[in-house]
Amino acid sequence: MPPQHTRKRIALVAHDAKKTELLEWATSHQTALSRHELSATGTTGGLLIQHLGLSVHRYLSGPLGGDLQIGSAIAEGRLDVLIFFWDPLAAQPHDPDVKALLRVAVVHNVAVASNRATADYLMSSPLLELPGEQPA
Ligand code: PGA
Repeated sequence: MPPQHTRKRIALVAHDAKKTELLEWATSHQTALSRHELSATGTTGGLLIQHLGLSVHRYLSGPLGGDLQIGSAIAEGRLDVLIFFWDPLAAQPHDPDVKALLRVAVVHNVAVASNRATADYLMSSPLLELPGEQPA
């Protein structure tokens, strides 16, 4: 376990059609992820706990307000990284919440990955291991 100050606060969210992909991605980064403080929307978090045994704080399910809870955590400076595999091919009942989450992440300069390639780059960044809440 790295010193506390190098742990990043990472939130993970996957829409239903993207959950398998997120699980595959998280499996390939399981060791690295386990070094950080993880949170997720309800169903996504449940899958990460059940399949990978990761320690994950679970917010509400996305459509029930989980995206907004994560957005709130971002607005309050309590998250560093958002891994958000949103589904570009399906309308979501909570689309306004999805937009709000993506918007607030940009407003507060939180690192966001919306697909596997970007998430891979993000997890391999040396900035993840630097002290501090966020890269400069
Ligand atoms: P879920 O929420 O992990 O509870 O399915 C994800 C979402 O749809 O935002």
